[in-house]
Amino acid sequence: MPHQPNPVFASLPTTIFTHMSALAVVHGAINLGQGFPDEDGPLSIREVAARALENGPNQYPPLRGLPQLRKAICAHASRFYDLDFDPDRNVVVTSGGTEALTASIMALAAPSGEVVLIEPAYDSYGPIAEAVGARVRTVKLSPPDWRLNAEALAAAITPDTRVLMLNSPLNPIGRAFTREELEGVARVLGRSNAVAVCDEVYEHLIFDGREHIPLITLHGMAERVVRVGSAGKMFSLTGWKIGWVTGPPALIDVVAKAHQFMTFTSSPALQLGIAHALEHEMDFTLNLTSRLQANRDLLAERLPKIGFEVLPCEGSYFLTAGIRGLTNENDCAFCERLVREAGVALIPLSVFFSRGTPDHLVRFAFCKKRELLETALQRLEAYFAQRNRT
Ligand code: PMP
Ligand code: GLN
Repeated sequence: MPHQPNPVFASLPTTIFTHMSALAVVHGAINLGQGFPDEDGPLSIREVAARALENGPNQYPPLRGLPQLRKAICAHASRFYDLDFDPDRNVVVTSGGTEALTASIMALAAPSGEVVLIEPAYDSYGPIAEAVGARVRTVKLSPPDWRLNAEALAAAITPDTRVLMLNSPLNPIGRAFTREELEGVARVLGRSNAVAVCDEVYEHLIFDGREHIPLITLHGMAERVVRVGSAGKMFSLTGWKIGWVTGPPALIDVVAKAHQFMTFTSSPALQLGIAHALEHEMDFTLNLTSRLQANRDLLAERLPKIGFEVLPCEGSYFLTAGIRGLTNENDCAFCERLVREAGVALIPLSVFFSRGTPDHLVRFAFCKKRELLETALQRLEAYFAQRNRT
């Protein structure tokens, strides 16, 4: 009998982000698909890392991360959310938010247990939960307001639920859940056997004066939540893949054991760079938010004139828009055509849903220089003006 690989991964396509980025290169398109900034974060961060590459340390850092970085992560949590974390007990440094999520799901879900996803959901959660052997259940949010309803969540939670995945601000729809919505989550979680893995990689990228509220800060949640962060998103260094998980020792100890066999550790030079960043370059992150907000506003003003139906965006790198005013195609066909014919790469939203999905929405990444967004808008304006004439 031929070898049978793990069907979870064997049946998966390559991620949509890689697919659309490759098409963007082939067709010379502007890439508003995969979410990465086109300007690197502060030079001082890169200089600290470069010096460390030259002078060391260059051998294995500790399993949970360099003490300087763990201390800086705890100081950040204290400064922004008044959380009291101990660098030796409450933190594991990981290779990006992606590894932080994978280690958390592997550690906290289990075969025979269930994992609840709120859809649209980031694409890594489901496959990793399934690879662990867990059953995936979903709660679907609906446009245009995408509100998270506590009753709908309660209906998806069973005595077997081990993990709830909660992403806020939420990729792809840019929802930042309100205190009221989060209190609903805390009530439901408090009555369950589950813990929450909170994907907060966009914690600072939140607009219009909104406050990011980590679920872990809510009453009764300190022992039930792990929080995932990403330096890539905070400091526009997405290729560095430095992330972390923070939370109560009972959960973090197990996450550290999953991490020890996934990567064990991450580059010490990059860890030192990010320790410096958290201590000295938070102003970059706070200013990035206002630049991103202006980019969001530019798209929100111009896209409707082309025929897109723009939905609200409260945070993250991403704006979503309806395409029914422009086409009867589904979102995937539309994106495939646009990258080839209009020279702009986008992401179809249906890839963030399991089934019964809306197929009329697309995602624009606006973590780009304003000039590039202007050029992308001009390409779209010209393309659809031409089509309307023919
Ligand atoms: N979670 C979400 C919601 C994301 O959008 C991303 C990637 N952009 C990640 C996790 C992964 O973060 P990282 O790049 O640090 O691995
Ligand atoms: N998180 C990024 C996005 O949503 C993609 C990261 C990746 O390609 N793995 O665009």
